[in-house]
Amino acid sequence: MLVRIAGFEHMQPLLDVAAQVGPLFGVPELERTRDFREFLERKIGQGEALVALDRRSGRTLGFLCFSRRHNRISFLAVDGGCRRRGVGSRLLGCALSLLDAGRPCGVTTFCQGHPGGEPARALYRAFGFRELGPLEHLGLPRAYMERPAGAGPGTGLPQRGPLAERCNQDPAYCPACRRAEPGERVAELAEAYLDCPAGGPFGRCILTAKEHQGPFYAMEREAYRRFMEDAARAARALQRAAGAVSVKLELGADGLAHPRACLTPLFVDDAAVTREAAGRAADDQEAEAERLWLLQRLREALEEERRRETAPV
Ligand SMILES: [Zn+2]
Repeated sequence: MLVRIAGFEHMQPLLDVAAQVGPLFGVPELERTRDFREFLERKIGQGEALVALDRRSGRTLGFLCFSRRHNRISFLAVDGGCRRRGVGSRLLGCALSLLDAGRPCGVTTFCQGHPGGEPARALYRAFGFRELGPLEHLGLPRAYMERPAGAGPGTGLPQRGPLAERCNQDPAYCPACRRAEPGERVAELAEAYLDCPAGGPFGRCILTAKEHQGPFYAMEREAYRRFMEDAARAARALQRAAGAVSVKLELGADGLAHPRACLTPLFVDDAAVTREAAGRAADDQEAEAERLWLLQRLREALEEERRRETAPV
């Protein structure tokens, strides 16, 4: 399965999927309504539509539209023949990673008991959404669900594609520039912020440059030096705090206007744990408790780094 940002060439396949779910939504011939077609065109134009494709056949399995401005999921539909293949989960996970986890994320979906609506509700619950109450949408009874701020791995930073380009051109639109105080930031370092998002392998941290400037290979020499010093500082602290054998550092050359580095602690039993198993473990309560424990230790280790650097020799 391949998840991509939808282009106008996907318009008809998306309408075909929408045609299938219209009756379920209580809007027969949804795909023919002018409002929906305009909505879809707008979303594709803004780079706010994701499509899941069968990688080999190119068949459209489902799609999702979201709103960066309102930080919400606007539409989700999966082809009737492709249910239970994890299509919705892939699309929603991807959308959440593109939205701002520092703000609540909302969605309007089916009410409890809506025929055929439970899979969607279960999907949202699995991603941390909670029902806040009933509402009426386009004259139909619906439920409003919300995922609280700080509930997941989304950094709000699009990695590539039209979204990244738009953010790069316009700092006013750039979630990294606009970013409010997220509750879980580990630390503010000299040149970058350090985060340890939930949902990934244990201890994986993201270092994001504060300045809106371009990819790391286009950074000014001084900024680059300070950024790499932050990376080294964070790696030392992470290794100590997590009890890791070493730390892998990956620099993002993805065209983002905020240079980023990913720090992953490596452990002696890593080879015995598959990536998939590690991802699953990250969902459970113990993994979350361990992550919060690490956050605290990591802050202390960074403080220790700072003391060492400023200590007179
Ligand atoms: Zn920015």
